[in-house]
Amino acid sequence: MTKSRILIVAVLVALVIAFFAFDLGHFFTLAYFKSQQAVIDDYHGSHPAQTAAIFFAIYVAVTALSIPGAAVMTLAAGAIFGLAWGTVIVSFASSLGATLAFLVSRFVLREAVQHRFGGQLAGINAGIARDGPFYLFTLRLVPAFPFFVINLAMGLTPLRTWTFYWVSQLGMLAGTLVYVNAGTEIAKIDSLRGILSPALLVSFTLLGIFPLVAKRIVATVKSRRIYAKWTKPAHFDRNVIVIGAGSAGLVTAYIAAAVKAKVTLIEKHRLGGDCLYTGCVPSKALIRSAKFLAHARRARELGMTSAEVKFDFAQVMERVQRVVTTIEPHDSIERYTKLGVDCIIGDAKIMSPWSVEIATAAGARTLTTKNIVIAAGARPFIPPIPGLAEINPLTSDSVWSLRKLPARLVVLGGGPIGCELAQCFARLGSQVTQVEMAPRLLVREDLEISETVIRQFRAESISVLIGHKARKVVVENGEKILVVETAGNETRIPFDELLCAVGRVANTAGYGLENLGIPITQTRTVELNEYLQTAYPNIYAAGDVAGPYQFTHTASHMAWYAAVNALFGRFKRFKVDYTVVPWATFTEPEVARVGLNEQEAREKSVAYEVVKYDLGELDRAIADEDAHGLVKVLTAPGSDRILGATIIGEHAGDLLAEFVLAMKHGLGLNKILGTIHTYPTLAESAKYAAGAWKRAQVTQGQVDFLAAFNAYMREDAGLGSVMGRLPGLLRDKRRAYAPGSKT
Ligand SMILES: Cc1cc2nc3c(=O)[nH]c(=O)nc-3n(C[C@H](O)[C@H](O)[C@H](O)COP(=O)(O)OP(=O)(O)OC[C@H]3O[C@@H](n4cnc5c(N)ncnc54)[C@H](O)[C@@H]3O)c2cc1C
Repeated sequence: MTKSRILIVAVLVALVIAFFAFDLGHFFTLAYFKSQQAVIDDYHGSHPAQTAAIFFAIYVAVTALSIPGAAVMTLAAGAIFGLAWGTVIVSFASSLGATLAFLVSRFVLREAVQHRFGGQLAGINAGIARDGPFYLFTLRLVPAFPFFVINLAMGLTPLRTWTFYWVSQLGMLAGTLVYVNAGTEIAKIDSLRGILSPALLVSFTLLGIFPLVAKRIVATVKSRRIYAKWTKPAHFDRNVIVIGAGSAGLVTAYIAAAVKAKVTLIEKHRLGGDCLYTGCVPSKALIRSAKFLAHARRARELGMTSAEVKFDFAQVMERVQRVVTTIEPHDSIERYTKLGVDCIIGDAKIMSPWSVEIATAAGARTLTTKNIVIAAGARPFIPPIPGLAEINPLTSDSVWSLRKLPARLVVLGGGPIGCELAQCFARLGSQVTQVEMAPRLLVREDLEISETVIRQFRAESISVLIGHKARKVVVENGEKILVVETAGNETRIPFDELLCAVGRVANTAGYGLENLGIPITQTRTVELNEYLQTAYPNIYAAGDVAGPYQFTHTASHMAWYAAVNALFGRFKRFKVDYTVVPWATFTEPEVARVGLNEQEAREKSVAYEVVKYDLGELDRAIADEDAHGLVKVLTAPGSDRILGATIIGEHAGDLLAEFVLAMKHGLGLNKILGTIHTYPTLAESAKYAAGAWKRAQVTQGQVDFLAAFNAYMREDAGLGSVMGRLPGLLRDKRRAYAPGSKT
């Protein structure tokens, strides 16, 4: 940093410290202003120009130094100078002060910030170059962020100073007017009756509704801008066109048809999408077969002498296809046509915000539509590891066509899909090596959960290589070898097949998003607002193509919002609700979670208490020879409100449902504890976890008091002993049983 910069920073810091150290903030309170109003009015009466100049200078200083007080000063301007002059003075003073703050930020910080974060800021810089004035105008009109933050942040961008000045002045004008107007009314309050005067109430109502009106104006301007270059058709063939017939697309079309909208569902492959053909359904069918095998091997545990299971891998895979075929009619063209959906097999391409071209076997056709819902899904991601693409790795798309069991299988990836399939193939007899570069499998779960899964996998002879980075794939003398690296050491893993399960990437190219300029997020999903609208308010997206979760149940959850907002958003729009999202990984043991786990609570600085119940103690689990696992519940400190639950054990995915329902409907652990659960079931574990929580709430004072009370009832002790415990009971907040851990 140059000397001049250091000097400026030192002066500014000194001024700001002085402001707080000498408590100058109390001069900028409404109470102080009211107490001095008569004096100020007197001075203003005799020295109008000086008053305006002094006020202007103080206002500029306050905004330039980014210290609190501008809002109160704006109200004061109305009280002292009236609506017209007050607005003029504040409008110029605030714009000038803001520009000074902007320049300071630019002079002191911009170079360093752009140098340090140039790569990450490239997108923002390009956006500012293209649309900077509009962004700024929006931020000024709808004060979503404090103005001082906007001044400082804009200083770091390439926005021109003059542009910053005039856009700020224009953007803040409406808000300034509303505030100054409210100030004119404040001047008139001199009694409680004044507070209830109609003029003041109107002024404050304006103050309250201003952000909403401004937001609406911004939305209208934005949407006019975005649609400006397109010609809107005079009439629409459809209410909604849905692109992609996976979980998200099918549910969107179903809802639209149910409310008698004219809906066309376009699918380029097969109705049903990933879940039916390459995802949930085949994987769960394969897991069932593999689990049977694994359980047969445990026959002795159940009192059998032995149980021999012979199988043919090809037949197991055929069974998987049979399951798919059995479920297929649920998602068929016939069913959806009967429901009122116009189904078209073809490749969809968005040509304009209101028209979609469909390339079918019979030729191309174009339909106009009021709304579009993009539900184009995702595909397996193949990382750019040298040599990997050349060996044509298996993915969750292609693994289902295997009919010969790979003797040596490498599974790349330790997420849910990698874990489920690694265990299946190991149980079916492949020698499986699972490679994960993170320090554990299922990294989103708590450490003890990941460790339990790793222990189980290793017990099943899966070679789990965590903290190993795949470097390259080579083929030597016809043998395929994966080279992995950990702590600077390379290991070579020969294999017959490699299953790549390192994540899924949204399908965002090739069907018109580029043409319309629909933005994509950094995680390469379609960018949406909370109503699931893209940059074009009549184009929505749902499911894997949009994230943030990539599950079938979240795809259909989003589909409801996309369909309802598209068809009825003109009257009422719904913000997508991700507050209670459950998921499960169907390994054995299963891992299921809803809400926060400890790791996330810490990351988000959410205070919590945690209670654990060991499934090894549950009668039913013992009877089933499955006495292992854990129910772990996070609650808000001092309350039974559930922040999250993780279950690891048999049927964890099913057991989670009770916690999902409880969280969704605000039922705490006391309610679960007060519910009769059938004996002996695994479901009782929820009640026992709630019981463990309840016991942890008992304080030593309560225990002492109850002991004294019961002693009195047995006439072993006098009433004085009971009463003597009362102060301790009221005072003692200590827990007799400390919860598992605390933040
Ligand atoms: C192995 C595996 C196991 C899984 N297990 C589970 C699980 O147990 N539980 C769970 O909840 N989730 C699971 N998932 C995730 C789940 O499958 C997905 O989240 C879900 O299928 C997403 O649905 P979708 O509608 O968003 O996308 P998709 O099902 O991918 O559907 C998108 C459709 O759009 C079509 N399409 C794309 N572009 C066009 C175009 N231009 N024109 C016409 N059609 C187009 C595609 O052909 C595709 O059919 C699993 C996934 C995998 C891979």
